[in-house]
Amino acid sequence: MVLVCKTGGAGDDEQWKAELRRLMPELEIRDWPDIGDPADVEFVLLFASAPGLFDGMTGLRAVLSAGAGVDGFVGDLPQGVPAARLVDPWMQTAMAAWIVHAVLHFSRNMPAYADQQARGVWREQFEAHFEPRRVGILGCGEIGRRTGSLLADLGFRVTGWTRTARDLAPLENLHGAAGLDELLGESEFLVCLLPLTPETEGLLDAGRLARLPEGAFFINASRGRIVVQQDLVAALDSGRLGGAWLDVTDPEPLPPGDPLWRRPDVWITPHVAGVTNPVTGAALVAENIRRARAGEPLTHPVDRNRGY
Ligand code: NAP
Repeated sequence: MVLVCKTGGAGDDEQWKAELRRLMPELEIRDWPDIGDPADVEFVLLFASAPGLFDGMTGLRAVLSAGAGVDGFVGDLPQGVPAARLVDPWMQTAMAAWIVHAVLHFSRNMPAYADQQARGVWREQFEAHFEPRRVGILGCGEIGRRTGSLLADLGFRVTGWTRTARDLAPLENLHGAAGLDELLGESEFLVCLLPLTPETEGLLDAGRLARLPEGAFFINASRGRIVVQQDLVAALDSGRLGGAWLDVTDPEPLPPGDPLWRRPDVWITPHVAGVTNPVTGAALVAENIRRARAGEPLTHPVDRNRGY
């Protein structure tokens, strides 16, 4: 039973291999690109594809993602081979905590207090919001629901936007193109958790950002290419956006000279909101290997037509 490991960008390779070997001693793990005869390969564990990666893998049973997003390889999946996302509660909690932190940073006026502290100023900022403040979550799947329920517990009114209609109770739901305009119009805090697909790439452009309430805050934890970055900068310049917290940018890494780095209204982290944990991840991958070998459906299958 041979697995090819190409997890670069999603967890430490050596940790992945150690955990998988502990759970499945019968698994032979080969590192990309030294994979020997590709016809031996039954499983590929990866985050991003490479040219010719799947060539000659005539015995491939399943492709297993080392991360929650599959945009790095979904376009290259061989026909007829099932693929699965990594849906890890550990990662969801990490993502949700990062997003809650970002929302609270803005909602509790931390940028203004940091500025005051630097100048030794003791002055209350107006913080008394007696109505629940509105958070819109673009892409309310596994991570969005976890994040939304934490924010709802903290008193926010949360609406999740999805492709299909969903019961997200206690969160509200909007879906489709009409739902997006409504969600943008009411979101004081806009959180992006959409997968990167042909439908979502460039979704947040100048026209859509202009629908947000004046001074809204934008928080992106999914993929940088979902927002048109120059339109994001223009929305910050015009005051349409009051600030942004970005874990993801276009491109990554963000070049050292990019003006986003120096903006006082933008906070940047280097794609660390929900890093892959090979210890919890390996157990989920091992379960899908077991399922594939038993002829059972994989958990969290990728739909290659939808792209996520
Ligand atoms: P998920 O469970 O697949 O949820 C995706 C959500 O997006 C679903 O609600 C889906 O709608 C919605 N969606 C997809 N295409 C849409 C469209 N065209 N219009 C409207 N809604 C659409 O994914 P997840 O596990 O929550 O992960 C979300 C993303 O987070 C990943 O794809 C990845 O890019 C990112 N991520 C980032 C990090 C990091 O460290 N920054 C870590 C982990 C994940 P339906 O419910 O109708 O299907």
